[in-house]
Amino acid sequence: MTNHLAQALRLMRADRGDALFAELPDGRHVSFGDVDALSNRFAAALVGMGVKPGDRVAVQVDKSIEALMLYLGAIRAGAVFLPLNTAYTPNEVAFFVGDAEPALLVCRPASAEALAPVAAETGARLETMGVRAADSHDHGSIFEHLPDEASPVMVPRGPEDLAAILYTSGTTGRSKGAMLSHDNLASNALTLVDTWRFTAEDRLIHALPIYHTHGLFVASNVTLVAGGSLIWMPKFDADAVIEALPRASAMMGVPTFYTRLLGDDRLTPDLCRAMRLFVAGSAPLLAETHRQWQAATGHAILERYGMTEASMITSNPYDGERRAGTVGLPLPGVALRVRNPETGDLLGAGEIGMIEIRGPNVFQGYWKLPEKTAEELSADGWFVTGDLGTIGHDGYVQIVGRGKDLIISGGFNVYPKEVEGEIDRLDGVIESAVIGVPHPDFVEGVVAVVVPQHGATREEDEIKGALADRIAKFKQPKRVIFVDALPRNTMGKVQKKALREAHAGLFGT
Ligand code: AMP
Repeated sequence: MTNHLAQALRLMRADRGDALFAELPDGRHVSFGDVDALSNRFAAALVGMGVKPGDRVAVQVDKSIEALMLYLGAIRAGAVFLPLNTAYTPNEVAFFVGDAEPALLVCRPASAEALAPVAAETGARLETMGVRAADSHDHGSIFEHLPDEASPVMVPRGPEDLAAILYTSGTTGRSKGAMLSHDNLASNALTLVDTWRFTAEDRLIHALPIYHTHGLFVASNVTLVAGGSLIWMPKFDADAVIEALPRASAMMGVPTFYTRLLGDDRLTPDLCRAMRLFVAGSAPLLAETHRQWQAATGHAILERYGMTEASMITSNPYDGERRAGTVGLPLPGVALRVRNPETGDLLGAGEIGMIEIRGPNVFQGYWKLPEKTAEELSADGWFVTGDLGTIGHDGYVQIVGRGKDLIISGGFNVYPKEVEGEIDRLDGVIESAVIGVPHPDFVEGVVAVVVPQHGATREEDEIKGALADRIAKFKQPKRVIFVDALPRNTMGKVQKKALREAHAGLFGT
């Protein structure tokens, strides 16, 4: 048996040793040969520290190419990689570590003191990893365990073996550990390379975090499979992206990347002359952003839909129409259906219901939560995504929102996205979030939280009046609240739970 994912990612491919894999912000160039050597040194270090096949390696570190090599090293060593959002506090990390029981916890040097008791309590070994300053080698204890050279480590792992556990971002509830197998990740990477036409010629702007499926698996795995290269950035920075665009061919981003770049007058078709593909996902891209981007650059953003539990699920077509406000068609090999969540009836084109999917990308279940897994993942492989949506007559899928964000007001279903769409098209409005909060008569009352354009003053009654003849009365917001910005997590998702909590007492319940 080989190591299924390592083979799909073409680690150890001697034929591309000198080819460029990543250009780093400090000017260093990392070749595919370096990827092989460094990931192997990490793998050897893990094995040397006693990490066994199937052991979890939990990692909460700042983004660096070495951290990416630690991921690949963990795969080579047969371990289960478990990245953690850098925003989590030690208290939150304690929960994940207690739940996942990793053999090894790798953290930032500055967190070592706070996490030492957490590691001690679960018996995890603690090592640190910082970001290497150009002139320093003192960047974490894990580097002291790297052998200068090591004979190739490639622990055999089959398609079904676990490669990673990613905790869901928990925007609607408690985080759950999604178990992803070697083939979940390998099959998705291979499909995306084909669907999005990635080749060794590509140069991808990598400004996403690497604790999330988007930056860790989609962007990095696709580039490894295709043999292309990354323009590596520690985080999203509009100036750095503008500087890199003329020598890049592709970018993968969350919608906020695009809205921030749109505010920059250096963004022109000429700046994007070498680009062939802009991909957006992880949160809904406003149709307006899609149009503005096309006007500013000449490129239609390719929006796709995915989630921690299933990597990428649908994509707008590479060649066909990239339709704003939709997430395109199911990827090859992925089946998608929409069912009535109450009755289980299959719904027809245009009808809104719960999106369910099946395919080689669908995860193996939630870590240590067999009951939750059984609720959401049926024995025949259909996964209830928790997203409400609809399939159009021509197969294009539209996401209407998370099921848990659905508002039931006076017994009627209100889909926040529909109301948000109506508000967002009003003059003087940048965007909005529509939520349901406890209401004495209606159980839930519809509330719109609106971000007005800078300098625009909008009145609550004006917004209500503008909606009066556009949507049914039960969908109309009972209150409109103005804010400077919506609360978002690092992947650009609006934190509706936080909004609901903040406005819970609005109707005096
Ligand atoms: P995560 O597991 O953090 O990647 O979040 C997955 C969730 O993000 C999905 O279940 C959707 O609710 C949302 N999502 C991802 N991509 C899109 C998209 N293109 N449009 C709308 N929602 C999206």
